[in-house]
Amino acid sequence: MSALELRGVTYKYDDGTLALKDFSLLVERSEKVAIVGPNGAGKSTLLNLLAGFRMPFSGKVLIEGRELTEENADELRREVGLVFQDPDDQIFMPTVEEDVAFGPRNLGLDDIEGRVKLALRSAGIESLAKRRPHRLSHGMKKRVAIAGILAMDPKTLLLDEPTSGLDPRARAELIKLLKGMDKTMLIATHDLEAAAEMVDRVVVLNVSVVTQGTMREVVMSREVLRDAGLELPTVSKLFDMVSGMGYPVESLPVSMDQAVSEFTRVIEREAKLMGEKRGRKNRGKQRSPDGD
Ligand code: ADP
Repeated sequence: MSALELRGVTYKYDDGTLALKDFSLLVERSEKVAIVGPNGAGKSTLLNLLAGFRMPFSGKVLIEGRELTEENADELRREVGLVFQDPDDQIFMPTVEEDVAFGPRNLGLDDIEGRVKLALRSAGIESLAKRRPHRLSHGMKKRVAIAGILAMDPKTLLLDEPTSGLDPRARAELIKLLKGMDKTMLIATHDLEAAAEMVDRVVVLNVSVVTQGTMREVVMSREVLRDAGLELPTVSKLFDMVSGMGYPVESLPVSMDQAVSEFTRVIEREAKLMGEKRGRKNRGKQRSPDGD
């Protein structure tokens, strides 16, 4: 059974804005999937549908194999936890631990203390338990918001633009944290570089699915990304330029590890070609004194 499934979902706002059209997606358990798309592509609408905050105009949303309806929305909402883009929309208690405890307490769950401890540890913020969340940095607030969701132990995490507004170090640390978490995740973002590091699969959304695949497959559709207003990861851009200079780049890397392998391959191939050229030249020189 898949963790999340959308079948031909269309969503229209009351003013007639079509945010999603005939959108289908299947996310397996433990899979990490990025939904990438420009502003207004329908990413937040999609997350809100999956979190049961909105109902589709047509089509079906299934959570853990069960169709989401007005009647079971409260129950199924426990299976998915939505982390808002702006942590200030999610954090409101006077201390971090009280804030993290709020969700599970509200749901009437047991062992609140144990859940809070575990969630703080998973989010790497145990030392902040007694701090006032509103005084923390944006990066730490994001972690508090994530811990607040983890404390309810949902099977799936839905994250709206998790890297937005973070400085480079906080961004790198959050990517590492999410990458290492053993949870099903659907991450809405326009940060392809972060998505490349965190997820197994990428869906490019612009009201409908534009394309999907591994990040490496998706970056090969440069025009599609450009049309969707998305930036290639820097390392992919570099290799796109190198390819434009005539070097034999087979596929654009999306991470440093892939870049190192591709770079090594290009260099080895160039060295081999040079070696062959030199060999031919030398053989030509050796033959010429005899006139053949
Ligand atoms: P994204 O998260 O990719 O930026 P959204 O899901 O927020 O996209 O928005 C998708 C579309 O729906 C956009 O055209 C946006 O203007 C519109 N939209 C979002 N929220 C509302 C709303 N409450 N009422 C009307 N239109 C909305």
